[in-house]
Amino acid sequence: MKIGVLAVQGAFAEHASILRSLGLEVVEVRLPSDLAGLDGLIIPGGESTTIGKLMDAYGLYAPVKDLAARGKPVWGTCAGMIMLAKDIEGSDQPRLGLMDIGVNRNAFGRQADSFEVDLAVPALGTSAFHAVFIRAPLLTSVGPGVEVLARLPDGRMVAAEQANLLATAFHPELTADVRFHDHFVELARKRVS
Ligand code: GLN
Repeated sequence: MKIGVLAVQGAFAEHASILRSLGLEVVEVRLPSDLAGLDGLIIPGGESTTIGKLMDAYGLYAPVKDLAARGKPVWGTCAGMIMLAKDIEGSDQPRLGLMDIGVNRNAFGRQADSFEVDLAVPALGTSAFHAVFIRAPLLTSVGPGVEVLARLPDGRMVAAEQANLLATAFHPELTADVRFHDHFVELARKRVS
């Protein structure tokens, strides 16, 4: 199994090292040719407007959309979740727009720039997932085909899945808990077999 990590900007190295620790072949994706033969793609956290511009400059929109259309899983964390969203509140910034979700960038404002919280994520089992939020977006709406995977204690949505698409507002690559990465690899495995 070969998994790509979009490496134009942001926290790609952390995703790559977790995937390698799980025994997967990892490709850092900067050019369309890097997408050849991938079984899945992670779009990391960073700055979504920068990632969006660089994806355009490198001609990555069409081939990434094609990868998703072929059923390969695509997972966006934080800025990556913003890239996957069809709707970005108050912004017309470039995006993939693959997933039927609406997001609010920087939903937590300056006071809560970053925070950590234990989340119940039933899809990953019974023990809580320790989630790190950094200038995080929130999911503000989800379409009928979207399953919400996790909510903050106050009910606000922070992780979701739609067929082969996965979105987390937080950063599973910054903790030692690899269950989200395992879950993503499992999605890829299902498409492969
Ligand atoms: N707030 C950033 C954005 O809008 C996302 C932050 C992150 O990825 N850690 O792109």
